[in-house]
Amino acid sequence: MTQQLSWEVLQSIVQSQSIEQLSMQQLDELFHAEKDMMAFLPDSVCQIDPRNGELIVYNSTRARRPHDSGIPDARLAIDEKPCVICQGKTTGVVDVAQLSQGATFINKNLFPIIYPLQNILEEYRQQPLYPDPMHTGRVSYGFHFLQWTSTQHDQDWHTLSLDDGVIVLQRLAALEGKLLYESGALMPPSEMPPPRKSTHGFVSIIKNHGRLAGGSLAHGHQQIGCSNIMPSRFYNNWCFAQRHDGENFSHYLLRENPVELQVRDYGEAVLLVPYFMRRPYDMLLVVKNTERQYVHELTDAEIRAVTQGIQDAIRALIRIMPLLGREPAFNMTINNGPGAGLYLEFLAHTQEIGGFEQLGLWVCQESTTNAAAYLRENLVVR
Ligand SMILES: [Zn+2]
Repeated sequence: MTQQLSWEVLQSIVQSQSIEQLSMQQLDELFHAEKDMMAFLPDSVCQIDPRNGELIVYNSTRARRPHDSGIPDARLAIDEKPCVICQGKTTGVVDVAQLSQGATFINKNLFPIIYPLQNILEEYRQQPLYPDPMHTGRVSYGFHFLQWTSTQHDQDWHTLSLDDGVIVLQRLAALEGKLLYESGALMPPSEMPPPRKSTHGFVSIIKNHGRLAGGSLAHGHQQIGCSNIMPSRFYNNWCFAQRHDGENFSHYLLRENPVELQVRDYGEAVLLVPYFMRRPYDMLLVVKNTERQYVHELTDAEIRAVTQGIQDAIRALIRIMPLLGREPAFNMTINNGPGAGLYLEFLAHTQEIGGFEQLGLWVCQESTTNAAAYLRENLVVR
């Protein structure tokens, strides 16, 4: 029988049926009440690589995660050990929505990369980054959530119906909106000078699928970080718009990316291979209305188009990678905030990262034209 988290067990760990019902204060208290999390708290320190502005946060306790103890054990954790999520052995749930079968839900990451510190000094709440002449690091804090795509162990974007996928994305959007608009007492403004939308902090949404791409649990999930620090990709998007007289990256890409690299058009969004593809089958899913900055700003039609794009991209990678002799592994990231427009990136683990790549010289084993054509073929065949 397929594993799944039953409705009864799920209800026993539900603290809130919907994220909209919780105040930030209550959310903060729920994080502090997770006693099992205390052994795995992050160092709450962020350093910046002065060469490229990349941020490094430290969590020296993370190496102790039970499912991360070396490669052989990690494989066991993914494939064979009873799933802790299916057993309901996880943190309190803050949002649940029923799907046609089972449910999708959001809870707190037991092994957080950021944590809501108490008594953050006012100066740290003024701006995301500030000088650090002694190199002691800057404080990093916030909330780290997990969204479990389905209570059914083997269900994820690629197996869900479109209607169920839409619900999963809508709940992600609700969490994103909550964090951006209601965390003003804790987080610095999302832009300097502060944006007219009065959003605070940075909401990073990612998915790791497959052991080789950092997925440490097989049960399909997304990770959501709400941090005071701005990930460097967000900063790059913002800089891009500054350099291009206010044109954001999505707008530029829709104008410049060669039409033969389009994989599929969904009306409100388009899936494409970027002309600067770094690894075979890397894809971008771009929302055509480039005024959009965040997932919660999307209309129902846009949410539906983005869901279709996510499902197609993931299905294609899961189909193609075994044909390349590789186990499916990829990262999905959502690029939101100023300067991005709104786009998702699918980064396939189709090649290792070598020394040239570490120098910033990416050697890609496939052409963009071939990759786009092959992806189109693999979308048609289901
Ligand atoms: Zn499971």
